[in-house]
Amino acid sequence: MQKLLSNRIKTLPISQTLAMAAKARELKEQGKDIISLSLGEPDFHTPDFIKEAAIEAINENYNSYTPVNGYKELRKAISRKFKRDNNLTYSIDQIVVSTGAKQSIANTAMVLLNPGDEVILPAPYWVSYSAIVILCEAKYVEIPTTIENDFKITPQQLEAAITPKTKMIFLNSPNNPSGTVYSEKEFRALAKVLEKYPNIYILSDEIYELINYGKPCFSFAAIDSMYDRTITINGVAKAFAMTGWRVGYIGAPEWIAKASTKMQGQITSGTNCIAQRATITALNASPSKIKFMVDEFKIRRDLILKLLSKIKGLKTNIPQGAFYVFPDVSYFFGKTIKGKTIHNASDISMLLLEQVGVATVTGEAFGAPNCIRLSYSASQEDLIEAVRRITSVLT
Ligand code: GLU
Repeated sequence: MQKLLSNRIKTLPISQTLAMAAKARELKEQGKDIISLSLGEPDFHTPDFIKEAAIEAINENYNSYTPVNGYKELRKAISRKFKRDNNLTYSIDQIVVSTGAKQSIANTAMVLLNPGDEVILPAPYWVSYSAIVILCEAKYVEIPTTIENDFKITPQQLEAAITPKTKMIFLNSPNNPSGTVYSEKEFRALAKVLEKYPNIYILSDEIYELINYGKPCFSFAAIDSMYDRTITINGVAKAFAMTGWRVGYIGAPEWIAKASTKMQGQITSGTNCIAQRATITALNASPSKIKFMVDEFKIRRDLILKLLSKIKGLKTNIPQGAFYVFPDVSYFFGKTIKGKTIHNASDISMLLLEQVGVATVTGEAFGAPNCIRLSYSASQEDLIEAVRRITSVLT
């Protein structure tokens, strides 16, 4: 029966983050002792003040279809948030609320890309970027980066990757999986290149914006010359521990917002009504209300970096945001560990799962085949135990 499936789905790669998380869950259910550092989601509960807003919404009978682009009150809250945190002016007609930032990204790609268009992806990049580009029958062009350059692309690399077919570039700061954060200066240098190519659109995925350990993140659309061709992606999943609520949004030129609404109107319609009401409360709150989670992530980052630094052969950058470390494990390629010859990062990832029950995600899925991703959105005890187990395999 498989052969009856469309070419579209046959050529679509499976999401490696979700696949690894499902595998870890399945092994746990079988009673295996698994520590999952695979999925990127906060291990905190959604804060009470947000949960209460959702309960109130249920009791107030918010149960009907919502406007396709989101409640006006929510779009007003998003507009204020953009101004408050990002110095961006987006009217409510430039904002579309979707079922997670993943849908926001998919909508944007679907309304802008034609078959054969090229999309530049600085690598490493989040697994679903390449898959979404494939779904649009477009082609992704990777720009490789090095750990020595903190996984950042240079203006020269960007210029070299541009062709007459380039339609978009996806930027992601803080980055999943490397935790890299671009400074305003670095973004302005990239913008200087893009100014020469007015037909290229920029998708700026800022979903990890509030989980960063340095200065506030700089939004790409805050560069005047980029504003009219940047689609800013954000959502509440990561910063507010609301992954399962599925609320993402864009701020974009109005014609792109309109097209996204049209697309969404034929696929999922408006996002869940209760989750939207809760999101109004989340976004109207001061970001200081969630700072305790960011502080804890920083402690965990420092902890895991310190522990990993003791493993000979592992190289890491110092992630400035998000909650991942992305060590280079290529030192182990060609070696035989526990009777298994290691050829690539996937072999290391499988070895760690099979031998000591630590679930990670291979860097191959992120366009960086020398690395593996570890999410430190786990308790400090779990992180200590996970690295103890990893150490027992790799040393
Ligand atoms: N973005 C998270 C991750 O990278 C959630 C899983 C997903 O949707 O890929 O793990």
